[in-house]
Amino acid sequence: MIVVMRSGATREQIDAILARLGEHGLTGKITYGEERNIIGVVGAAIPPTLREEIELFPGVQEAVRITRPYKLTAREFHPHDTVVHVRGIPVGQSPCVVIAGPCAVESEEQIVRTAQAVRDAGGTMLRGGAFKPRSSPYTFRGLGEEGLKLLALAREMTGLPIVTEVMTPTDVALVARYADVLQIGARNMQNYQLLEEVGRSGVPVLLKRGLSATFEEWLLSAEYIVAQGNEQVILCERGIRTFETATRNTMDLNIIALAKRRTHLPVLADPSHGTGKWYLVPPLALASLAAGADGVIIEVHPDPDRATSDGAQSLNPANFAALMPRLSAVAQAIGRSLAVPTTIEA
Ligand code: PEP
Ligand code: MN
Repeated sequence: MIVVMRSGATREQIDAILARLGEHGLTGKITYGEERNIIGVVGAAIPPTLREEIELFPGVQEAVRITRPYKLTAREFHPHDTVVHVRGIPVGQSPCVVIAGPCAVESEEQIVRTAQAVRDAGGTMLRGGAFKPRSSPYTFRGLGEEGLKLLALAREMTGLPIVTEVMTPTDVALVARYADVLQIGARNMQNYQLLEEVGRSGVPVLLKRGLSATFEEWLLSAEYIVAQGNEQVILCERGIRTFETATRNTMDLNIIALAKRRTHLPVLADPSHGTGKWYLVPPLALASLAAGADGVIIEVHPDPDRATSDGAQSLNPANFAALMPRLSAVAQAIGRSLAVPTTIEA
């Protein structure tokens, strides 16, 4: 349920409602708006008569039942867009961000060369996995902490904030010491202990949609993070399993537009995992921005043929650089822009 206050409602009137919610074992989360404030009611069991009861309180315009199972992440609870701040770079505002880098950190030379190429082309952040969830246990699974150190070095050399995956709750503290954004991979979207741990970390989180997750399941996973007090959550569509085998996954552009409507969280698109083919990455990156994504995350490797993972879907630096002005043109066509890379304090 949400309680919409009249414009001009006082703090005392809001406090009286919060107190009554408390008596019912419920909590109220206030969203301050320019026009009016909204109290989102969260709790396991909302009594059926609560709506009428609350509507009698002074200062209340209306109380509306929300039937969606996700609450804190719902647009109704929080009408204006959440902006996630990554070392001063806003994600979820008009400028679209471009996160790029290799699937996995492989060596100092590889990550530094890639970071320089990403920065030179105008990318906003650097991605790269140090802990890799691989479908086969016999493939390269990442450099671990050594990879995190190399990412930190690349950040120091280029100023690009780093996005990297964390796979287990026990690794959150370690990865958070290096990462500017903690990535939750598609395979871990429903690892609820991990979601709660990154929620407690307070570090911005990039939550990939699961391989076969419905929109509701994805949002409920985001809800786990936000419920721990971390509202700095970025959703990321990365393609889903369908009957189609000609591409690795099927990029679900519908869900990008739907997510922007139903939630207040920023939404990114990952056309690399969404298509699995490097030559499909540019068209789907452009389409994702046109569909309303707040940015893209793209795999870039200095030598894709030799990549330890996801080479087939990685752009080389030249192709990435060629894509950037086209992304900028699409952003401008829809009244947005591309984020201007900022120099951060090392
Ligand atoms: C990745 O970003 O390299 C990755 C493993 O992505 P996903 O979890 O979407 O498969
Ligand atoms: Mn990958």
